[in-house]
Amino acid sequence: MYNLWLSNCFQARSRLDEKHNKVKTENWTGSIFLKPRGKSWIIVAMWLVAEAAAGDAPMKNDDEIKWETARSEMVRVLRTTYGISDEKILRVMATVRRHRFIPESHRAESDPYGDHPCSIGFGQTISQPFIVAYMTMLLDVHQGEKVLEIGTGSGYQAAVLAELGARVFSIEIIPELAEHARKVLKEEGYDRVRVLTGDGYKGWPEEAPFDAIIVTCAPEEVPAALVNQLREGGRMILPLGRWSQRLVILRKKDGRIVQTDDISVRFVPMVQGDNRPRP
Ligand code: SAH
Repeated sequence: MYNLWLSNCFQARSRLDEKHNKVKTENWTGSIFLKPRGKSWIIVAMWLVAEAAAGDAPMKNDDEIKWETARSEMVRVLRTTYGISDEKILRVMATVRRHRFIPESHRAESDPYGDHPCSIGFGQTISQPFIVAYMTMLLDVHQGEKVLEIGTGSGYQAAVLAELGARVFSIEIIPELAEHARKVLKEEGYDRVRVLTGDGYKGWPEEAPFDAIIVTCAPEEVPAALVNQLREGGRMILPLGRWSQRLVILRKKDGRIVQTDDISVRFVPMVQGDNRPRP
């Protein structure tokens, strides 16, 4: 069975060497003054063409290489420790730059690709990579499907769904987090993800029905509006409960809801309207 480590990582120190955390910039063309004579202009011209061609391939700096290595290690753990074998999900998780979704104010204190959740401020967390992979696997989204997420948080889960080809609509109750997620999603190229600042208990009626709904905070009961906004044949996955929580999968079949209980989990609560956490 899965070995879950679901505690927060507020105190977690980065295991990655911060000494490598500097951006290497090189500007060759700006530092060389050329005065071609005789046939040497041919060499210069060839060099300039080669430089221009190389310019098309993005140069990776030390940071990028460090994060890419950390992502590969995260995928290795998902594969070997947790037995995640869905290649599509592993590929997506090797692609989405998780560290970018952790607000800069919290990045230094966290190990973004470690086997644990990470703090994103306001007492909220970005889920442990295994939980993201597992819930995404259960949701089984297909290209072009309309997916509603409740609890945008950092925006990471939304990016994973978008990378899988889903049309993502995500609701976040804390305005500052919604703003952060909007910004990072856009910067990372997921500008088609829509983020609404609001109360997930109400869902997004203007965009319903949804093929799939994923809730990443825990209500004590299944929110009725979300069930109504699920299309016939659609599925919803959510952590349910207060102290003791289980992941629950609901399927709408012939207007009825069929519920399957899954693994035990620990998520932040889904808060009601004005009870939202403040700084
Ligand atoms: N999916 C996120 C992590 C979610 S953490 C990620 O990938 O980073 C849970 C989030 O649910 C928090 O940001 C919290 O503010 C939000 N939340 C809690 N109650 C909510 C509600 N009623 N409506 C919308 N969002 C809610």
